[in-house]
Amino acid sequence: MNKIDLQNTLLSKSQFIRGLQCHKSLYLHRHHPELRDEVSSAQQALFQSGQNVGEFARELFPEGIIIQYEGVPLSEQIENTAAAISGEVDTIYEAAFCYDGVFIKADILHRGRHGWELYEVKSSAGVKDIHLRDVALQYHVLTGAGLPVSKVALVHINNRYIRNGAVELKKLFTISDFTKTVAQYREEIISEISRQKQMLCGGMPAIDIGEHCTNPYDCDFMGYCWQHIPLDSIFDISGRFAQRFDLYRQGIVRLADVPDDVLSKPQRQQKRATLEKRNFISARGIKRFLDSLHYPLCFLDFECVSFPIPPYDGLRPYQHIPYQYSLHILERDGAALQHFEYLAEGTADHRQSLLEKLLRDIPPQACVLAYNAAYEIGRLKDLAAWYPAQSKKIEAVISSIRDLAEPFRGRAVYYYQMNGSYSIKSVLPALVPEMSYDALDISDGNMAMQAFLQMMVSSNLQEKQRLKKALLDYCRLDSLGMVKIYETLKK
Ligand code: SF4
Repeated sequence: MNKIDLQNTLLSKSQFIRGLQCHKSLYLHRHHPELRDEVSSAQQALFQSGQNVGEFARELFPEGIIIQYEGVPLSEQIENTAAAISGEVDTIYEAAFCYDGVFIKADILHRGRHGWELYEVKSSAGVKDIHLRDVALQYHVLTGAGLPVSKVALVHINNRYIRNGAVELKKLFTISDFTKTVAQYREEIISEISRQKQMLCGGMPAIDIGEHCTNPYDCDFMGYCWQHIPLDSIFDISGRFAQRFDLYRQGIVRLADVPDDVLSKPQRQQKRATLEKRNFISARGIKRFLDSLHYPLCFLDFECVSFPIPPYDGLRPYQHIPYQYSLHILERDGAALQHFEYLAEGTADHRQSLLEKLLRDIPPQACVLAYNAAYEIGRLKDLAAWYPAQSKKIEAVISSIRDLAEPFRGRAVYYYQMNGSYSIKSVLPALVPEMSYDALDISDGNMAMQAFLQMMVSSNLQEKQRLKKALLDYCRLDSLGMVKIYETLKK
């Protein structure tokens, strides 16, 4: 097989995993990649963090050699791997193999006493079923290619690890041995490879949308496959609704056709509001909420970042670290609105300076409003644990917090434009149509996190300034939006 053929006809590991989720997804990926959805900022972040973890985990088995792959033909990667194996090398990163029409790259191969040990690195905090099929496929290819494999293991993040000083790799990562488990998947893997190869030689498989579109991953062809779903459909119903796809398969797609008796009370309200373009407002519910507030009123919003590898002491993997807040304050009814904000800059640990400024900015005896307040409360509790000397002041802030989402979550206020959601991104444009995230460079928390990470490492001053402004604008709109929602409730 020449180099070009090898590249074009093989199944890669990621393609096999894609095919396991849905044959149509694999078909589209191979034959119609132009139909793929744009990569979201959240997916991009996930991919980047996975790469970083993979590179970090190599230090568990240091001084290995890497099989270069950027711009290197697959056949050459396989030859280079074979040369490394027959040499004196004990550890190989990205070792390349091909067997049964499947090409794989092993994250870490280590020469053990009884054979080669395979370590597949995952950036997740636990092991999922799909990970087992992933290593089972690799085991099939490695052994089929003639490599004696004595161990198959998954290396994943231990989310109970708390950093204290330099990162301790053996505590940060958990190594789970699945040598015995992979054998159980052998028959399934062999027949699935054959089914996928056969499928790719035919036309597009007739697979309809279903639960598999988001399990185990969000498919990136949903824009194409879901285009027949109309606005105001059964898939817009919020909350738990297990029968969604059962009804879809019975031909019920439009919201108007969903029988009331399968819906909960809030879902029936959503259906009625949408179909009749009607808003539901309980003056009593709003009054009860407003009566629980007092001046000075603070409107607080945090933006946070998380890392699989904790960057500072006291942090667990993936623990959320506030890097920014925006705080609007109304001292009393009719007073001018004041604004305070904080945005971390540089890569140094900024948690203490953020906390100190926040405690200075929030006036004594204030009532603090947050939207979906459990999140802000969680971050404040973290800050109290990191800085116990400030815990009393932080506890006082926590006990003053009221949740501005409450009237919407409890359906005291429901606008049909909210489409069943009470997130601020749905509530704000419904209540205050002139306020929108559309004009901003950053329009959601994931984009903000990406921009912050970029700003931290960028050496281009102009770019840094641009990102800083975009981050400040975004966070300011969140807390200002809360003020506008509060004012609308008062009306
Ligand atoms: S959107 Fe659903 S049906 Fe379409 S390719 Fe993806 S998983 Fe398959």
